[in-house]
Amino acid sequence: MDQQETYTTHCVWQPHSDHTLAMDCSDPRFPEARHEFLTRHCKVSRYDSIFVPGGPVTSTLANAFCYVDQERIRMLHSLHTFTRVIGIAHFDCGYYKHHHLSATHADLQKHQITDLHNFRDTMASLTPGAHVKVYHTGPNPDNFIEYRRIF
Ligand SMILES: [Zn+2]
Repeated sequence: MDQQETYTTHCVWQPHSDHTLAMDCSDPRFPEARHEFLTRHCKVSRYDSIFVPGGPVTSTLANAFCYVDQERIRMLHSLHTFTRVIGIAHFDCGYYKHHHLSATHADLQKHQITDLHNFRDTMASLTPGAHVKVYHTGPNPDNFIEYRRIF
């Protein structure tokens, strides 16, 4: 007979939503900083999250994967009525390095900024009524991760 494994967290069930969508890259170097940024700076804890390689850019491209992401965002917006969308791109993103092989860090950041503008325009269509804020993140000179608002 198999023994069932159960783990009970210290979290109490909270049924409400903060009506916020956070879209970020899935890079494993940022989850703790992202959670701190979202909860302490943005004051949201019950946010919908889409964390995929590349983050916000994936909702803006015209391919099958992006179409699925766009449909998921529309569905989540219809369920949770987003009032806020937070898009985050990060320093040294593997998605951008993969798609722009010989680009410098500065060139990659320029691509990210262009994509973040497209993200804002895409979210205006997918989540009408939601205020979109966009950030770029990475280590500061003291090696602490900081989030800089782009717009
Ligand atoms: Zn990334």
